[in-house]
Amino acid sequence: MNQSLFAEVGKHLPSDLSKPFIRTPLGGGYSYADMLRSTSQFAHALVELGVQPGDRVAVQVDKSPETVMLYLAVLRAGAVYLPLNSGYTGDELRYFLDDAEPSLFVCAPAFEAQARELAKVSGVAHVETLGDAGDGSLMDRVHGKPGRFADVERAASDLAAILYTSGTTGRSKGAMISHGNLVSNARALVGAWQITSEDWLLHALPIFHIHGLFVACNSLLMAGGSMLFLSKFDVAQMLRLLPQVNLLMGVPTFYTRLLDQPGLSREAVAHMRLFISGSAPLTAETHKAFSERTGMAILERYGMTETGMNTSNPLDGERIAGTVGFPLPGVELRITDPAQAEPTLLPQGEPGMIEVRGPNVFQGYWRMPEKTAEELRADGYFMTGDIGFVDDRGYVQIVGRNKDMIISGGFNVYPKELEEILDTLPGVVESAVIGVPHPDFGEGVTAVLVAGKDQAPTEAQVLAALDGKLARFKQPKRVMVVDALPRNVMGKVQKNVLREQFKALYS
Ligand code: AMP
Repeated sequence: MNQSLFAEVGKHLPSDLSKPFIRTPLGGGYSYADMLRSTSQFAHALVELGVQPGDRVAVQVDKSPETVMLYLAVLRAGAVYLPLNSGYTGDELRYFLDDAEPSLFVCAPAFEAQARELAKVSGVAHVETLGDAGDGSLMDRVHGKPGRFADVERAASDLAAILYTSGTTGRSKGAMISHGNLVSNARALVGAWQITSEDWLLHALPIFHIHGLFVACNSLLMAGGSMLFLSKFDVAQMLRLLPQVNLLMGVPTFYTRLLDQPGLSREAVAHMRLFISGSAPLTAETHKAFSERTGMAILERYGMTETGMNTSNPLDGERIAGTVGFPLPGVELRITDPAQAEPTLLPQGEPGMIEVRGPNVFQGYWRMPEKTAEELRADGYFMTGDIGFVDDRGYVQIVGRNKDMIISGGFNVYPKELEEILDTLPGVVESAVIGVPHPDFGEGVTAVLVAGKDQAPTEAQVLAALDGKLARFKQPKRVMVVDALPRNVMGKVQKNVLREQFKALYS
């Protein structure tokens, strides 16, 4: 039996295949029938290019509906989809091509000459282009191909994709994701969020990342739903198009930017079924401000490249700000002592390493057995690197990243605890707490703030406000004000950039 994601999608097609699968704001796009035909044509083109089952197909293109067709076609051809952040350049790309050894590299038309150079050096056999206007050499091959394709059968454990982790330290690791991983996670999300063929998702996320590619596309596909596809995130356009959809999946930045729009009101979202947030922490303030303004509680969920989605706040039931909800069906979650090599469970309520196990957990890092063994335990639990706890109602709360944890004078300090307090101070828009080398303490707790327009608090005011609220060892040694926090495309604060910027603060 074919256990590929696409075979599973085939079981959930809407009864009316003329129903839209992807629509663009200008009215173009693909119905479900178009999608079946187009992915067949793409799959024939891949086979013609010599792509064999198990081969990697590296893709670095601008977002377009055709990219989704290519993704699905790669799965139908039994190959492994390898999406690359469109921001990667020369040396970075070289690393991915050398490491993954794809048989085909699909790039944006404007990048073709460089891509060919890189491909030659890395020994990639074929380079094709795909433009965001449905153009490019790959499209030329696709046109005229048969509209039916006999899918290559896959087992649940066969690889469907390799996604390189952003890797703020060291080399990027290729997370190997199987068909079984994708199917189980999409099923869990369709169930948890009750996605149906009636749903319309506003899709404004990049599709080289798990959130926009798997969480959004796979779960909608698995329910026969529809997507309104924006080529990039534009908050004014998003607000304008909201009336056409009932579902939004976003990173926290979407919600903070929406809150800046005077047009965001109860009336503007009255028709919406669900707002979902993930990929980075949604602050309790944003959650609260959004529900005050719109009457809707954002549903926050938690996941990562290696595991797909792990937890979600409930669809029915209280969505608690600052928490990521309950483990999804099939996902086992435990909290262990990060200081112990052997898994050592911590008592309920105590923060420790979040570990997860289930059909969602990846197959290991591509050609890095030692790294895999460091993070994937013998009993199947994956050490997420996130620090969190489970409260007495069972909600999971994330306190920070393990590598984010500051050790100051021998004491562990979790930045999120401070950031939550700092964010509530008058004049503070947002904050990031980092550890930087300190001659006395090893690491000095350092608060970096973005201040409001006309009311930057002084260092003394901030320190005074924290005094008494936090143990002495957790209090920042210095408070620095910056214009904006550095963020990556998924909205994650790049603390490594801040640590670099302030590395000499105490020397
Ligand atoms: P990525 O693999 O790029 O999706 O990054 C995964 C990481 O993002 C996780 O390990 C968490 O540190 C973080 N993350 C994802 N969702 C959330 C969330 N809802 N709250 C806090 N952190 C999150």
